[in-house]
Amino acid sequence: MTYDTGNIFAKILRGELPCNKVYEDDCALAFHDIRPQAPVHVLVIPKGAYVSYDDFAANAPDAEILDFTRAVARLTRELGVDLDSGHGYRAITNAGEHGVQEVPHFHLHILGGRNIGRMIDPA
Ligand code: 5GP
Repeated sequence: MTYDTGNIFAKILRGELPCNKVYEDDCALAFHDIRPQAPVHVLVIPKGAYVSYDDFAANAPDAEILDFTRAVARLTRELGVDLDSGHGYRAITNAGEHGVQEVPHFHLHILGGRNIGRMIDPA
């Protein structure tokens, strides 16, 4: 799938739209979800142009994958949801139609601050 440079997160990365930033480094940006589903609901995105997790995993340079993964670890600590200082979290990434992905720039949802419940609706 071709990356759409007009997507909302691309605009946030270019500074064309605001975000409530919680973390930033050379390869990653994290900000509060505009419609939070839990007391902690943060989105973490790579700065590179990747549509989905599989796009990122297949096509990002090794260093970018490593840096992004380490950024997630720093972020969960800063949010206080990691297992050393907090009570845990759920990381979700949606892809495409069946994954019900709204924004076509790879992002991880970090959800916590309460028990997040079952992984998926069994219905
Ligand atoms: P997806 O369904 O693509 O996994 O999730 C996209 C998420 O982005 C949704 O949870 C939605 O609330 C969030 N979102 C959509 N537009 C914006 C925005 O302009 N700013 C922020 N911070 N979050 C957004």
